[in-house]
Amino acid sequence: MPFAQFLPASSPEAIAAERSWLLPQHADATLACGLLSFHTYVIRHRGRTILVDTCMGNDKDRGGHPLFHGLRTHWLDELAALGVRPESVDYVMCTHMHGDHVGWNTRLENGRWVPTFPNARYVFAEREYALREAAYRADGRAGYGSFGDSVLPVVERGQAELVASDHEIEGLLQLEGAPGHTPGNVVIHLRSGTGHGIFSGDTIHHPLQIKYPEWSSAFCEDPAQSAICRRRFVERHCDTDTLILPAHFPAPTAGHIRSDGDRWRFAFLEHFG
Ligand SMILES: [Zn+2]
Repeated sequence: MPFAQFLPASSPEAIAAERSWLLPQHADATLACGLLSFHTYVIRHRGRTILVDTCMGNDKDRGGHPLFHGLRTHWLDELAALGVRPESVDYVMCTHMHGDHVGWNTRLENGRWVPTFPNARYVFAEREYALREAAYRADGRAGYGSFGDSVLPVVERGQAELVASDHEIEGLLQLEGAPGHTPGNVVIHLRSGTGHGIFSGDTIHHPLQIKYPEWSSAFCEDPAQSAICRRRFVERHCDTDTLILPAHFPAPTAGHIRSDGDRWRFAFLEHFG
């Protein structure tokens, strides 16, 4: 994705200065385009299986959008390769309701959208849900139609849990409101033993935004608020043991925020996933 389009506040000079770590994983050879990936996380805990964010989904009508429209990916097979059957998923969590985070909530069965995970509770932040629903009522194609085909069918089957933005699950996961990217956007804390991780969703899209939290993405609905939220996030978790688990960083994806002069950098884990 062209940086000029995706991170409109960025400058080619500032990006060129990061060349040593951007290539080849995080930008193309010309440094004009950033490279992103799309992730679902699988958490196993005391016999429970929990998914965080569900990527784009197959067969979705996204009005011809080149990244999302009519996909036929092997996402379910990849999940199966991890030993995860759809029936065995207990919770599905979405950091927000953009189409690349809710897509596999549903799949097409005999021409109808049905929940992909028949036994799961789908946990949605109430605030995000309310705003998306209002947008959907005004325009059924809002968000390229993702609310109608990837969220509503889950609600209609009675599998949705609308929760407060600090909701906790199984003493393991806790939401935290992170408005800006979307008004009801959340990050999700994972605490296990003494370990602490955070699924950061789209609070940060690209590792350049660790160094430059003021560079909000073109997909942020309130870029100014998103920049404030991201800066706070970076400062709070800098030089701590908190493992950051982003939605869109290419492999090895996860890492820690470290101070770097008067700014910050992302220290990727060597091996992850
Ligand atoms: Zn996203």
